[in-house]
Amino acid sequence: MIDPATALQDVRNRIAGAARIAQRSADDVTLIAVSKTHDAAAIQPLIDTGQRVFGENRVQEAQAKWPDLRAAHPEIELHLIGQLQSNKADEAVAMFDCIHSLDRPSLVPALAKAMDKAGRRVPCFVQVNIGAEEQKGGCAIAELAALLAEARAADLPVIGLMCVPPADIEAAPFFALLDKLARDHGLAGRSMGMSDDFETAVMLGATHVRVGSALFGERG
Ligand SMILES: *Cc1c(COP(=O)(O)O)cnc(C)c1O
Repeated sequence: MIDPATALQDVRNRIAGAARIAQRSADDVTLIAVSKTHDAAAIQPLIDTGQRVFGENRVQEAQAKWPDLRAAHPEIELHLIGQLQSNKADEAVAMFDCIHSLDRPSLVPALAKAMDKAGRRVPCFVQVNIGAEEQKGGCAIAELAALLAEARAADLPVIGLMCVPPADIEAAPFFALLDKLARDHGLAGRSMGMSDDFETAVMLGATHVRVGSALFGERG
């Protein structure tokens, strides 16, 4: 069992250390505490320690546990980091403050309509299948320009790119590639880096790191 306050301080220190080496400000890196599969009792200590940005990968799971937690701390930000079905767009827009998984053209009109209906524009990252993996979510690099154009035409606030690099190989080249693609498209946000590689991601320009098990322990 890891102590959440200690784990949070350790992750924050490591982000700060990586930022310092890269001549960046740690303030330019948002730590998203990925609380998927963990219940309110596990999340509460992190809130008590001052963490305010959390990530979930399922709309329904977030709906089940966050309304109560948020009632006490309305300033909490929730980020959707998992795949989104078009028919859940309304619920996602109502629930989340940022969506990291815009990954295909069919989601563009669904999200635009949901945002119109809700009267709020939720910032989005376009997820890129950075390792060109058959089974992985994310837009192919060859289709990125077209997807960004569609999103912009629909007035979706796209703030950056997101990736999950292939498992079990060095992530750095993929982070560097995502950074280059973001630069090529004039996007400031880079959502990259998880428990095993967030320091590398920070050194390569991550603005948002998504850290779960390093904060909460391994998922059951
Ligand atoms: C689960 C998940 C994370 C966090 O992974 P850890 O290795 O536990 O830090 C980050 N990003 C996405 C998209 C995830 O699904």
